Amino acid sequence: MQSITAYIGLGSNLDDPIKQVRTAFEELDSIELTCLIKHSSLYRSDPVGPSGQPDYINAVAQIKTQLEPIPLLRALQAIEHDHRRVRLERWGPRTLDLDLLVYADQKINEPDLIVPHIMIAERPFVLYPLAEITPDIKIPGLAPMSELLEQSSKQGLSKIFNE
Ligand code: ADP
Ligand code: MG
Repeated sequence: MQSITAYIGLGSNLDDPIKQVRTAFEELDSIELTCLIKHSSLYRSDPVGPSGQPDYINAVAQIKTQLEPIPLLRALQAIEHDHRRVRLERWGPRTLDLDLLVYADQKINEPDLIVPHIMIAERPFVLYPLAEITPDIKIPGLAPMSELLEQSSKQGLSKIFNE
């Protein structure tokens, strides 16, 4: 099978989130039939969901993979599991969240996998790092990136330098 390009959203707000995200880049590269092409800067963002949580660290990675979407999702979930992610509450704190944002130009609608990820346009901490590494991406079913950015507030989001 030919390799396709996919984008993965990474997020962490527990147990040294910067380290969690940096380690996850390497782990993405070690998924079978998959390599990491590049990743965005790390961004710090205000937490979504229950209040009183620590800030999030977010980033987006571009990979090439020969895995089909569901096996790729399972590999992402295995990495999340290795980071001892505990699902205590929806949108609650987590050591590592990996979302399959975009898989080639495919639209997928399965019980446990919706691609493009449904929250891309609503989440500045996904949009801005994605635009940093692929400014001209056309996400299936969504407006051009330039329009998505215009409609998205950067408030609460900051790029991390030299950390
Ligand atoms: P969120 O990522 O929206 O903060 P969760 O990580 O807790 O929330 O959601 C995980 C659930 O979302 C899993 O059960 C998974 O099957 C489902 N899911 C649906 N589409 C995707 C996708 N594109 N990437 C990752 N998980 C997805
Ligand atoms: Mg997720």
